[in-house]
Amino acid sequence: MSLTELANRKPLFSLEVFPPRKESSNKTILNTLQELQSLEPDFISVTLGAGGSGRRDATLKIANLVKNQLGVETVAHVPGLYQSKQQVLDLLDQLKSISVTNVLALRGDQIPGKQPTGDFNHANELVSFIKQNRPECTILGACYPDCHQDSPDFIDDLANLKRKVDSGTDHLITQLFFDNSEFYSFYEKARIAGITVPIEAGIMPCTNKKQIERIATITGIPVPKKFATILDRYSDNKEAMRDAGIAFAVDQIIDLVSQGVDGIHLYTMNQPEIAKRIYNETRSVFKAAVK
Ligand code: FAD
Repeated sequence: MSLTELANRKPLFSLEVFPPRKESSNKTILNTLQELQSLEPDFISVTLGAGGSGRRDATLKIANLVKNQLGVETVAHVPGLYQSKQQVLDLLDQLKSISVTNVLALRGDQIPGKQPTGDFNHANELVSFIKQNRPECTILGACYPDCHQDSPDFIDDLANLKRKVDSGTDHLITQLFFDNSEFYSFYEKARIAGITVPIEAGIMPCTNKKQIERIATITGIPVPKKFATILDRYSDNKEAMRDAGIAFAVDQIIDLVSQGVDGIHLYTMNQPEIAKRIYNETRSVFKAAVK
C-alpha cells in the first residue's frame, strides 16, 4: 500500500531511526529494526545528516534492510543544503533501485564552519525539483508547531510551509513538541491557511535530561513547566527518568489520538525497548481509532 493510501487510514503510526555511526553496529541495528518491525509501524523513516554525503551509503543500507528484508514501508530523508542537483538525482535513483520512492525532503541544518555547497537553499526548492524530475516519488516534509528557530515569526514560517506544500509535499511530519496545545493551535492554523495534507505529530520519548537540554538548545523547542518539573525531580535516577519520560510520551499520544490526529511519528532514537513500551501502552487506543 502506498503512503498516500496508508494516510487515509488514520491514525498512522510511524517510526524514525538513524544509521549507526560504526560499521560494527550493523548487527545491533538489524536487531533494532526487527524489534521495531514487531510494532507493526505503517512506515519507518531513515535519517541522513545534512552534511553527511559520506553517510548516504549508511542510510541506503538501512532503508534497504527496512524495505526489502523486513518488508516495512520506508521513507528516506533527503537533506538538500549540501547536495547538488546531480547528487540528489543520484540518491533518488539509488533509492528507487531498492524500491524506495518515499522521501522526506529537507533543507537540513548548516554545519558550524561549513558553508552550504548544495543547490537548494530551502526545502521547497528541493520539493519542486523532485516533483519535476522524479514524479513517482511521494514527498514528505517537516513542519514546526513551535515555529522554526530561523523564522522571525509564526506567520512567516506558516507562509513558507504553505509554499512547501504547494510545491508538491504530500505529507507532513512535525518536529517533536512537548505541549499538545501548541500542536492543536498549529494544526488549526495550517488548515485555515489551506494546508490540507496529512500532518503527523512527531513525539520523542525523552528519558534523559542532558538529551532534552541539547535538543531544546538546537531546536529552540520550549520545555513546558510540567515536563521541566519531571526533569528536575528525576534526572538523577535513570530508571525513574525513563519511566516518567515514557509516561509523558504515552500521555501525549493518547491525547493526540483521541483528538483525531492524522498520525504519530515516534522518534525512536534507535531504542526499541522504549518504543515497545509506548506501543504496548497505546496499541488499543490506536486500534480503536483506526478507520
Ligand atoms: P525549510 O522548509 O527550508 O525551513 C527552514 C527555515 O526557512 C524556516 O524558518 C522556514 O520558515 C524558512 N523558509 C522555508 N522556505 C523558505 C523560502 N523559500 N524562503 C525563505 N525562507 C524560507 N535534518 C537532517 O539533516 N537530516 C535529517 O534526516 C532530518 N530529519 C528530520 C525529520 C523531521 C521530521 C524534522 C522535523 C526535521 C528533520 N531534520 C533533519 C532537521 C531539519 O533539517 C531542520 O529542522 C532544518 O533546520 C529545517 O529543515 P526544513 O526542511 O524544515 O527547512
